[in-house]
Parts: sequence; structure tokens; C-alpha cells
Amino acid sequence: MTRIRFLGSGNAFADGGRSHACIHVTAPGISLLLDCGGSSLPMIKRYIDPAAITAVAVTHLHGDHFGGIPFLLDEQKWAGRKTPLAIGGPPSLESRVRMVSQGFGIGTTREYLGFDVPFIVLGPDERAFGGARVAAVPVRHSPAAEPHGLRVRVDGKLIAYSGDASWSDDLVALARGADVFICEATLFAASEEKDNPVHVSYETLRANRGRFDCRRMILTHLGATSLAHARELEMEYATDGLELTL
Ligand SMILES: [Zn+2]
Repeated sequence: MTRIRFLGSGNAFADGGRSHACIHVTAPGISLLLDCGGSSLPMIKRYIDPAAITAVAVTHLHGDHFGGIPFLLDEQKWAGRKTPLAIGGPPSLESRVRMVSQGFGIGTTREYLGFDVPFIVLGPDERAFGGARVAAVPVRHSPAAEPHGLRVRVDGKLIAYSGDASWSDDLVALARGADVFICEATLFAASEEKDNPVHVSYETLRANRGRFDCRRMILTHLGATSLAHARELEMEYATDGLELTL
């Protein structure tokens, strides 16, 4: 059985008091994080066992999606971890994690941590990762953040996740055939996309819902305007701590 737990369903500004992006996927022998934003460690410790995490797949290089990794590594060092913790994502992920960790005073070498951290570049060709099979496909967001959406096959189920993305047909392709498509909805009104061209709105996703070939679709990364209209949303949306079974 595959389970998904939203450890963080918020945007970069933690609107509504929500935690940064972090989604836990679990199946027999698999405990995988999709993103690990800056505020993730308290949520990880509230809901799951950090020692059981096999891998972290990162969508893009913004702190609300990968800024929690140094804290997780340091916590695991002091917890005495010996097993590798794989970290996968865009090409510059390794250098960025090492740079940010250094700034935080946290080492990333085996000598410091006491366990290996294999960095793996995830790309469009599906590959084994953390006990699952994962592909990362480019989406439209701030180009310097090397933005990708993820397609994760776990125990016969396919999970698609947008990361952060503005509207394009890339999202339709990303969601194709998924058992669940987790999609950002930072904005509420389509008109907001003009001033904020790196995110997508609820209205645009709702208008295009029929084009998404997926069993279930759940919105996340809700911003201030999406939250202000939460009662009007005619699509499922995540809250911190929400758990689904596929
Ligand atoms: Zn974000």
C-alpha cells in the first residue's frame, strides 16, 4: 500500500502558517521525501521517523523546496545514522546543498556526517531512486532554480508532482496516467498570473481540469489568495498533515 503525507503544503511565505513544501511517500521498504523545504524538519519529526527516510527528491533550487536538507542531514548525523541518504534533483543540487550547508555550519562529507550522501541528477529518463522509480521533467518557473516536475512510481502507483510551475501544457504531460497529480496553486485568480508569471492559479487549473488525465488531483503550495478563497475551491487541496492512501 502506498501512502502520501503532506508534511508541508505551504508556499515560500508560509501563508496561513503552513509549512514549506515536503511530501512523504511511503510503501513497503520505501520512505521517500518529495522536496524538503526550510521548515520541514519539525514536521518530519512530528509525523515520521527521519532514520527511515531512504531518499529525498527535489523539484527545484528554491529554499522552500530544499532548504530543510542541511537540518535533516545534521539531525541524522547526531542520531547516529549509518545508512546512505540519497538526494536527487536538478544538476546544480549537489553544489547548492553543499554551499547552503556550509553557510549553516553543517558538513556534508562522510567524515562529518558518518554516512554517505549520494547526489543523483534526476532527468526525464525514469531511474531507480530510493526504492522507487523517478523521472524529473522540466516545467516553467524561475529558470535559475532549474525547475522540474516529478513522476514517481511506487509499488505500482504513479504519483506526479508539479513542484512550482506556471501554466503550460508541460503540466498536462506531467500528470498523464498518474494515480494522483499533486499540483501547486499558489494563486487563486487567473488574472494574478500576469503579475506573478512563475506560478499557476486555481482558476486556470480548474478551467483545464478536463485535460488532466489523472485519477485524482490535489492542490498544494497554496498562497494567500488561494487560502482566502479556500471555501470556494471546487478541487481537493492539501493541508499540513493530510494523509492519503493510494
Ligand atoms: Zn515554492
